Amino acid sequence: MTSDLLIIGAGAAGCAAALRAADLGLNVTLLSSLRDPADGSNTSWAQGGIIYRGIDDSPESLASDISTAGANICRDEAVHLISTRGPEIVRDLLIERCKVPFDETPDGSLHFTEEAAHACPRIIHVEDATGRAIAEHLIREVRTNKQITFLENVTAVDLIMRGLHTKNPKDVYNRPRCLGAYVLGSGEKVDPIVARETILATGGLGQIFLHTTNPRGARGDGVAMAYRAGARVVNLEYVQFHPTSLYHRTAPRFLLSESMRGEGAILVDGAGRPFMKKYHPLAELAPRDVVARAIHEEMMASNEPCMYLDISHKPADWVRTRFPTIHKTCLRYGIDITAQPIPVVPAAHYSCGGVAVDMHGRTNVTGLRAIGEASCTGVHGANRLASTSLLEAITWGFQAAEGIANDVEEHPIVDQSEVKTWELESEEVDPALIHQDWLTIKLTMWNYVGLERTSRRLNRALKILRDLQFEVESFYRLAKVTDPVVGLRNGIQTALAVTHAAYRNRESRGAHYRKE
Ligand SMILES: Cc1cc2nc3c(=O)[nH]c(=O)nc-3n(C[C@H](O)[C@H](O)[C@H](O)COP(=O)(O)OP(=O)(O)OC[C@H]3O[C@@H](n4cnc5c(N)ncnc54)[C@H](O)[C@@H]3O)c2cc1C
Repeated sequence: MTSDLLIIGAGAAGCAAALRAADLGLNVTLLSSLRDPADGSNTSWAQGGIIYRGIDDSPESLASDISTAGANICRDEAVHLISTRGPEIVRDLLIERCKVPFDETPDGSLHFTEEAAHACPRIIHVEDATGRAIAEHLIREVRTNKQITFLENVTAVDLIMRGLHTKNPKDVYNRPRCLGAYVLGSGEKVDPIVARETILATGGLGQIFLHTTNPRGARGDGVAMAYRAGARVVNLEYVQFHPTSLYHRTAPRFLLSESMRGEGAILVDGAGRPFMKKYHPLAELAPRDVVARAIHEEMMASNEPCMYLDISHKPADWVRTRFPTIHKTCLRYGIDITAQPIPVVPAAHYSCGGVAVDMHGRTNVTGLRAIGEASCTGVHGANRLASTSLLEAITWGFQAAEGIANDVEEHPIVDQSEVKTWELESEEVDPALIHQDWLTIKLTMWNYVGLERTSRRLNRALKILRDLQFEVESFYRLAKVTDPVVGLRNGIQTALAVTHAAYRNRESRGAHYRKE
């Protein structure tokens, strides 16, 4: 199979890129590893909303908030780009083209909500399930677009690299170039898909940690594939931990949106005492990493497994209407948020780093781009301002597509017969082994590479993860390729890359906190 553009991942970033590239006349192959692509990506789980332009707002004000949250190491040109172009793309793509039903005020104008560290209310939302609405509307557009071939429930196994995966041994003397990807289909076959350009839009990596708000597929596939292909990965130490995920024995770590604190929810300890003022003048609206570490410290000091988020002082009807998903989900676990505080723990939430790219999503490997959470554009610096990630995903989706449309002629398509076929191995992998290896990754990352990092912890993590990677790579060579096997191989690679980054950087900044 060949196309102008292969996009791996169909969240906000991948769909935006596919639609823009199709508008510009490219034929696109878009992949999603999900059975239902509108459910199970980070995009579809986003709750709070997406940045637009608030009343009396300006690009300068947004840029200043992004840079402050990013602990002053954001890339200026990226911040400028997202602040000026981002809201225009929200209007053109999401509001006017896809008709995402953002909440309105009684007079019919968009309802803006406020989130932590924003100078004004500028977030638009669909109740508290914004991502689900965005994902459904984008996927609907993608499905009806004749320029886009949408392959669902398939897994990209590895990038096809000239010299490594081409038949001519002399190709090693040429500059490395990405020629597409090997893709595992539903029939257990791995086929090459060849393209002029390939975009990684595989989302985040939260699943390498024990507690995470991310869905199962967020295991760093893009970072791992890019790393193996020789692409630069940067800023991976800056993993943002969301302060408030639901803590309940049988529940996944469901995210309790930032906007709850924006709307007045208070953090309290087991005795109902508020504690955030001790840690930051902005109290509940302090940057995420400050709030997450404050909760962690309170838990350590009191030896409690969680703290509590309380919105029960607000009128019950208002709470039910403003946070219907959170209200319903908590009720399922016996917690009525209109009447009692919610038990919460911090959880790995967002990767500020990723595959290093320029303003058009270009990596250092010819023919390979990256967008969305898998990439590092420099927008977030050392920490992310709430609700910038969906905006970044669609902005760089457009930028990458436009960049490719401009240079597509520079990348002649290779003949598929030049690419080696994938050698299928047949050994079944014991699921218990995969389960145990994931537990090792998640526990190691949580305890040693989590909210507070020390040289000793990071050293220990490196040793455990290196040994494990050796084991995993050994059985991978002989294993029958399945999605879980691919995921484990990528998870360990990404965990190592994050740990290396955290080990190298001894300076506490933003989401990276080195105790020693
Ligand atoms: C609970 C939660 C709440 C959030 N709330 C907000 C919010 O309110 N506002 C905001 O701006 N951001 C929010 N975020 C962050 C935001 O949702 C993500 O950063 C953003 O959606 C990332 O989009 P993406 O397109 O890069 O990745 P995703 O949406 O995660 O899409 C990745 C895609 O890649 C596919 N994929 C992965 N690996 C492979 C592979 N090997 N082969 C084929 N396909 C693959 C997946 O199936 C998926 O389709 C939230 C995140 C979470 C988890």
